[in-house]
Amino acid sequence: MAVEAQIDRLLERMSLAEKVGQMCQFPISLPQLEDRIRRGMAGSVIYSGTPLPGTGPQDPVTASRLNRLQRIAIEESPSGIPLLIGRDVLHGYKTVFPIPLGMAASWSPEVVREAARVAAREASADGIRWTFAPMLDIARDPRWGRIAEGFGEDPYLCSALGVAAVQGFQGDNLRNPETVLACAKHYAGYGAAEGGRDYNTIEITTATMRNVYLPSFHAAVQAGAGSIMAAFPDLGGVPVTAHRELLTTILKEEWGFDGLVISDWAAIDELRYHGVAADRAEAARLAARAGVDMDMAADVYFDELVGQVESGALPETVIDEAVRRILRVKFRLGLFDQPYTDEGRAVVHLRDDHLQAARDAAAKSLVLLKNDGILPLEKSGLTIGVFGPLADARRTLFGSWVLDGVEDRVVSILDRIRETAADGAEILTAELWDDALKRAQRCDVVIAVMGEGISRSGEDNCTTTLDLPPGQQAFLDALHALRVPTVVVLLAGRSLALERVDQTASAILMAWHPGTEGAQAIADALFGDANPSGKLPVTFPRTVGQVPLYYNHRPTGRPLPDDRKHTRYVDQLDSPLYPFGYGLSYTTFEYRDLRITPDGPSVVTVSAEVTNTGARAGDEIVQLYIRDLVASISRPVKELKGFARVSLAPGESQTVTFRLAAEDLGFYDATGRWTFEPGTFAVWVGPDSARGLSGEFTIDSA
Ligand code: BGC
Repeated sequence: MAVEAQIDRLLERMSLAEKVGQMCQFPISLPQLEDRIRRGMAGSVIYSGTPLPGTGPQDPVTASRLNRLQRIAIEESPSGIPLLIGRDVLHGYKTVFPIPLGMAASWSPEVVREAARVAAREASADGIRWTFAPMLDIARDPRWGRIAEGFGEDPYLCSALGVAAVQGFQGDNLRNPETVLACAKHYAGYGAAEGGRDYNTIEITTATMRNVYLPSFHAAVQAGAGSIMAAFPDLGGVPVTAHRELLTTILKEEWGFDGLVISDWAAIDELRYHGVAADRAEAARLAARAGVDMDMAADVYFDELVGQVESGALPETVIDEAVRRILRVKFRLGLFDQPYTDEGRAVVHLRDDHLQAARDAAAKSLVLLKNDGILPLEKSGLTIGVFGPLADARRTLFGSWVLDGVEDRVVSILDRIRETAADGAEILTAELWDDALKRAQRCDVVIAVMGEGISRSGEDNCTTTLDLPPGQQAFLDALHALRVPTVVVLLAGRSLALERVDQTASAILMAWHPGTEGAQAIADALFGDANPSGKLPVTFPRTVGQVPLYYNHRPTGRPLPDDRKHTRYVDQLDSPLYPFGYGLSYTTFEYRDLRITPDGPSVVTVSAEVTNTGARAGDEIVQLYIRDLVASISRPVKELKGFARVSLAPGESQTVTFRLAAEDLGFYDATGRWTFEPGTFAVWVGPDSARGLSGEFTIDSA
């Protein structure tokens, strides 16, 4: 029987309380969980990493534990509806991949797809069939700690990588037991939190919402993402959890999304604290009416929805529609036919090919920010100091939102450097700054492993500075005073303000938080076994005071375009330290022969030849930007519209071709309507958002 007909049959049979139960997700640690499942009052369980107050540490996730819960739902609850069991699996499960911002630096949908596929295979082996990922929030303010969880500042890159993540998690067919349902979050605008303060209030105009913050979600929906999470904050006074226009009008009606919408953790209850609901009953009503199908962990739907319907305050059709979406997703996952997990599948954890994929992802995510020629290092004959607070760290390599990573499998950067350097190299270490400085004087080169620990980025971990954490810059300054050449290996969950580091270090390798195999990837790059190829998915400002600073800003009237004298700050340049898209290599690439060819009505083909002009093989990420020169609303000075990662041997050339059609050149106007306006466009093909070959083309008619 067709799925919708099966859903109709179930809906006819279910009591109102059971229907409301489907709309409730409870944490695994809830004491009454089994009882609620047995009564048919639980639709979903979140295997949350955050224990409820007073419940103590959690047991590890196992298929047998989750099968036991599932058996209660199937065999003992009135309608025998399977549970949907979710967990935050963001950038790997037992095998940890680089943080999403790091993976974005690979500019590789293949990397992101494979990371999601591996995470899905490992998590589903323990009975997890739903992840709260990918995070598709555009982030233009690195003070916001959650910038680590997403794919950066650009809507085009974020959309391409978001689609890849959805494909990796969900595979071709969600009935395959090695898949997990994706949840694109946090819909929408969360990254624009004022002041970079997490959960903070947001103002976004209609055009900016449509052109900047929504495209990644729209792309994920088009790629089949089965669920969406509503964001915590308010948009111009309307908390997203109660935002009918976003959740229903745009998402469900305009985009035709037929999966389920879940609130963020306890967010329905928080409608009271936002000051839009007088009590929990009103909060339940507002969220249900807005289009939140499932309540994550607030117990508000559980406590209030039956009463709201019985009193006539909420039509039962609202409940039926939500339950329909939830059941639809459960059918799509094949849970009615195959609710249990094969308990022998955990052997896939940390499989060799998974570790290899993590290493490849880490390698492609490394961004070489500066190199005066010191890198790559010789493996033999050097005395190398490996210092800094993160040199011997292991868990820090995971970054934020890692609940299941196996720390025992992580080797520190120091140990990988020791293994990778040849016997002829001498490696010096030190626990304390003073000792390090003493030993540094004997070194040919110092590798300073610095940056942010895990708790400095991620949820609720925002900063007011983008400088290195206390003490680190002073150490670099001291090394500089000693004239010891220093390579800074930087771990961080955000862009940092590195002006002083740039002035004092010989080389800077940005490694983000690179995951289980990150240290190997770093050692490979330092000694030239691999050639760094990542490019920045976010702008690196000179100072926190420039923030928000992003490449695709709109033009302004002043300073005039040819005015080189005036800058907006009296004490700082306007420009970033490292622009979006930037990253160096051990080889060099030359761009030539930009060609712009009309290719049918409102379509142009843009191509350029890229040559590896250095002595080493390397990957170059070729980037295509456009600018709509005159339009009904002011359009960004540059917008990414294409990219390609090409591998070139020394001396090798490749012509890279992009196609631009009306859908790439149009935009949403001030009223939120899609429009394509013919006219002249500038176009660039180059190595980053600040450089490239440039040309123009004109499209006469739509
Ligand atoms: C976060 C979500 C996460 C959820 C469940 C919330 O605090 O905002 O991103 O999925 O917790 O753990």
